[in-house]
Amino acid sequence: MADTLDIQNLNVSIAERQILKNFSLTVPKGEVHAIMGPNGTGKSTLAKALAGHPDYTVNSGHAFLDGADIIGQAPDATARAGLFMAFQYPNEISGVTIANFIRAALQARLPKGAPFDAKGYYAKLYAKMDVLQMDRTFTSRSVNEGFSGGEKKRCEILQMMMLDPKYAVLDETDSGLDIDALRIVAEGVNALRGPDIGIIVITHYQRLLEHIIPDKVHVMYDGRIVRSGGKELALELEAKGYDWVKELV
Ligand code: ADP
Ligand code: MG
Repeated sequence: MADTLDIQNLNVSIAERQILKNFSLTVPKGEVHAIMGPNGTGKSTLAKALAGHPDYTVNSGHAFLDGADIIGQAPDATARAGLFMAFQYPNEISGVTIANFIRAALQARLPKGAPFDAKGYYAKLYAKMDVLQMDRTFTSRSVNEGFSGGEKKRCEILQMMMLDPKYAVLDETDSGLDIDALRIVAEGVNALRGPDIGIIVITHYQRLLEHIIPDKVHVMYDGRIVRSGGKELALELEAKGYDWVKELV
């Protein structure tokens, strides 16, 4: 189907252990879907399997990005196809500045030999950094090196805003953020929301969803979605806790 990220019956294992069990989810462009669930339930596994992380073995299933299956693709091909991943634990990349890192990602999307508009690039980069209230000095710092938890998460969102993906998966972007940083990050995500992007927000807590109002909420347990609903489902989850979810399996 065009204009959807269509995940069908994904079975994924790591170190011989099956984590995702017939996981299915369809996210159309223009919508924000939240995935909530207890720790260890496979949320990050989903994100990394979609991104093509080599440690995660997809035993069966598909993930169609606007009709083209991204399963089995190299991570850079999936990224160029339009999937963006904000990691729960972003890596530090010593010696590569944020400005050069994002620039390289954008240049990799240009047709061979096409010129890069450096002036336009910096104007856009600074404008997005302003939204995220990031100091300009960040551009010349190595990616995530010595960053606080909150700074790393802002850096992930900055990359997302610069790359304009078709689909984005945000894996616990709220973890490690204080309330002010949470609001700023949410503003960045909300600024990007619109008819041309589908977003999956993975979170353990309802708190983030007060700032990024989801169109749908899915509860994940033991490698699959056990309940789907509207934004009120997040409140129900917050009130009842995750023990209740186990009874849904
Ligand atoms: P969540 O993000 O929902 O907390 P994860 O997807 O990170 O869950 O983990 C799902 C399960 O896979 C957990 O039981 C975890 O211990 C296991 N797991 C994750 N990464 C690895 C790994 N590199 N090696 C072995 N087991 C792993
Ligand atoms: Mg996780």
